Order: sequence, then structure tokens, then C-alpha cells
Amino acid sequence: MDTTPAPDSPPRVLMATGNPHKVEEIRAIFRARAREEGAEPAFNLVGLDAVPSAPEPHETGATFEQNAELKARYWADRTGLWCMADDSGLEVDPLGGEPGVLSARYAGFSGPRQQVDLANNRRLLQRLGEIPGRQRTARFVCAMVLAAPGPASRTVHIVRGTVEGRILGPGDPWYDQCAPAMRPRGRGEHGFGYDPLFLLPGREVTTAELSPMEKNRISHRGRASRVMYFHLQRAIEQWQRDRAEQGG
Ligand code: IMP
Repeated sequence: MDTTPAPDSPPRVLMATGNPHKVEEIRAIFRARAREEGAEPAFNLVGLDAVPSAPEPHETGATFEQNAELKARYWADRTGLWCMADDSGLEVDPLGGEPGVLSARYAGFSGPRQQVDLANNRRLLQRLGEIPGRQRTARFVCAMVLAAPGPASRTVHIVRGTVEGRILGPGDPWYDQCAPAMRPRGRGEHGFGYDPLFLLPGREVTTAELSPMEKNRISHRGRASRVMYFHLQRAIEQWQRDRAEQGG
């Protein structure tokens, strides 16, 4: 299959994730932003399945921003495309920001996603012990980075989206009534990861009790993506103008 774009088609922007759902989610957010602005996106968003495969870089950063940046620059260098990457996770205040960049592997366990999620949730509740629910303030964070094409790729924009909430705990009727062994399963059937334990203030629902559309509207990734769209659109338009001036 020839994946080379036609000469006059919009440039490809790589979203550095192998997760097709994430690419589709961000594409949908970008389409909605484009409609609001009354303009077509100046680029065509593709996932890692559209470029030659390569080993994933190690996420060795101490912050979400550092991890997103190292991924964006790595893939921009390799592919010569504009490249976006994100890194996300949960920060819990009474745990000093844990699990943070370790969110995906908090329990030190790898395997099928549902089992990993459950083990991570169990560890989170163990770490929080008897701290009352009201004091378990927390946020989901998503850092998103845009890197310009290689060979010496540069970081062009770094944005951050957050959603504030708290972790279910003592004093919450559901938590108090639930058998301790069942608590890590949390409340709600949607979402993934820590969603079933993450309560939205004022609404008294967990993010696993929201429909995927509702969650996109308020989520950390949704917020970061909407801000990134603004920067991306302008960066690509400027890049195209510069290339046209340079005669190609
Ligand atoms: P990633 O950077 O998107 O791979 O997310 C890293 C980890 O953070 C995931 O494996 C989850 O444990 C957690 N996480 C990130 N976003 C969410 C979310 O929207 N809901 C629940 N957990 C999340």
C-alpha cells in the first residue's frame, strides 16, 4: 500500500501512539474545533500504524511533560513528520502527587489491561488507608507536546490539561457499604484505569459513570487536545507559507 500523500494534500501529523482509539478520539476533538473555527484542519492526523515500525522510546522523564517531549522528538526525528505525543496519569494530593508518571505501572504489574488497572486501583486504595474521602483530592493530568520535523527536531509547543476530582474513600456511602475486597473495582462501567475510583466534585459521579462523549468533553486529554489544535493549526499554516516562499 502506498501511503505517500498526494503533493497537494494536507501534511500528515503523527500522533505518537499505537492506540487507535486515542488517535480517533483526538481526531474527533480536532474536527469539532475546526467546525467551531469554520475552517478545515490544515493537516491529516495519523497514528503510529501509518509509519514504519520502530521500538518505543523508554519513558524515563520525571514529569508528564518530559515523557511527552521525549516521545514527540523521538518520532519526529525518525519519521520527518510533525509529531504530537502525550503522557497522562493521576496525581493524588495526600500521596504527594503519586502515582504521577508511574500511573500505568503503579502496582509494578504488567499484563492484560483490566488486571493491571485493578492491581493499580488496589494499590492506590492501600496507600490511601483510612484517609477520609473528602481529603483525597486528586487530578488527571495530560501533557501534550508538538515537535517539528527532524532531523534536529525541536519542541514547538507544550500544553497541559487537567480535570480535578477526588478518590472515593471513607465517608462516601458507596465506599462504606462496599465489601473491602470489591472496592478496587470502583463505580461505573465505562472508561479505564483509575476512572471507577475518580469522583467528580459537585456531580457525585465517577468518570467511569460518564458516557465516552461526556468524558471527552471534560477530560484532561480533551482539554489538552483543544488547546493543542489551536497551536498545531497555526504552526502548520506558517510552515506551509514558509515553504511556499522558499519555492517548495
Ligand atoms: P497514558 O499516558 O495515556 O498511557 O496513561 C497512563 C496511565 O494513567 C494509564 O494507564 C492510567 O492508569 C492512567 N490514566 C491516564 N488517563 C486516564 C483516564 O482518563 N482515566 C483513568 N486513568 C487514566
